[in-house]
Amino acid sequence: MSGPAFTKVLIANRGEIALRILRACKSMGLETVVVYSQADRDAGYVALADEALCIGPAPASRSYLDQTALLLAAKASGAGAIHPGFGFLSENAEFAARVEQAGLVFIGPTPDNIRDMGDKISAKRLMMEAGVPCVPGPDHALDADYDSSCATARRIGYPVIIKAAGGGGGKGMRIVAQESELKDALSLTREEARRAFGASEIYMEKYLAHPRHVEIQVLADGKGHALWLGSRDCSPQRRHQKMLEEAPAIAIAPDVINGIGARCVAACERLGYRGLGTFEFLMEDGAFFFIEMNTRLQVEHPVTEMVTGLDIVEQQIRVALGEPLTLRQTDITQSGHAFECRINAEDPETFAPSPGVITAWQMPGGPGVRIDSHACAGYRVPPHYDSMIAKLIVHGDTREIALRRLALALDEMRIEGIKTNLPLHRAFVRDAQFIRGGVDIHALENWLKQANRTRDQQHGA
Ligand code: ADP
Repeated sequence: MSGPAFTKVLIANRGEIALRILRACKSMGLETVVVYSQADRDAGYVALADEALCIGPAPASRSYLDQTALLLAAKASGAGAIHPGFGFLSENAEFAARVEQAGLVFIGPTPDNIRDMGDKISAKRLMMEAGVPCVPGPDHALDADYDSSCATARRIGYPVIIKAAGGGGGKGMRIVAQESELKDALSLTREEARRAFGASEIYMEKYLAHPRHVEIQVLADGKGHALWLGSRDCSPQRRHQKMLEEAPAIAIAPDVINGIGARCVAACERLGYRGLGTFEFLMEDGAFFFIEMNTRLQVEHPVTEMVTGLDIVEQQIRVALGEPLTLRQTDITQSGHAFECRINAEDPETFAPSPGVITAWQMPGGPGVRIDSHACAGYRVPPHYDSMIAKLIVHGDTREIALRRLALALDEMRIEGIKTNLPLHRAFVRDAQFIRGGVDIHALENWLKQANRTRDQQHGA
């Protein structure tokens, strides 16, 4: 190919990730087009783009999810590529295909890659074939026959988890502790899957009691070359949603994590995978079990950037430009430790969204501190979208140093006018178990329960 495949990128997303992508494009000398809904008209990042186009009213279904509007905006602005960010259309194979049919570059995997991995059952099957260890359970959907599902559950052994093949965002999952709960769980999950994801296919796997969530970041050029960029631990979760991430995942023997990384790379090469991807695993008693692959840039990518020194979004765009990967696995080094806190506009006790105008916005600084955010004083957090308004990322030579910086940075951070989960982060990063490291996926919820009990007792006293 002669010359770059595109010089202008349309960013089909909003908020902090739109700004993050805009920065990567600008640093590469690419022109940028930002699209926005009427609710995001006044957001600061919109004015930073070379061009900005309104694509519709506030509801995402009529703006950021409107494929036709996005393709029209790309055509009108002369963009040669579309970056989908995360959420919205980022894992929509049909959209990726429409972008390519329009003669544009989709900055992400091929439509086939997205389709293969978007269906969690097909992903699991492909991973088993590629020798990636998976959670025990069949690699096919459950049929409608209760008796056969019952037999499957007995074979796996209770507790089991029923999951929607098309599920995402922590939804479409149900834990079944014993046989008496199975029938209801099957019909409820099937119904939920049909309503939320438009497909009623469900599957079953072993419910692991105390795993950690450990994931592997990969980067592949679609030309047979792939790399893994280290691990992340995203165990602190609430309702299966991540709240705090770190890199690397600690206390895993180097040969074990290197082995898993190598298997992920081999799977990418086997699948002809292109772009960024994340293999998500549950880790229990030192063993890894694949749960799903995300075929996009992740919210938590900055912690990997901080320890590898790579600009992951730039690497993603380079692959989309058709450049072969020049980096080799031996070039990927990791230095120090990084954390990321997701700062959400929500009530720290009830978790109800807290949109509105930010009246004070004071961000921390100092060595190793990074803020990825589109917000500022005077910014109105719209009620229509995800509540994440900022990511606080810190780096230090050791986990201990990074943790100290994290606590300090959280204390310095001041956001007023709306409620945020800052108080929660401030307290959780001082929890003895979290400081020790390696907590499981229930640690945050257990800690929240304890904090609530303590508060109730204090109020009662
Ligand atoms: P989603 O696509 O909605 O994010 P995942 O399959 O990635 O769903 O699972 C999200 C979270 O749900 C995991 O990080 C973990 O906390 C929990 N989970 C999923 N599968 C299992 C399982 N087999 N055993 C225990 N927990 C699970």
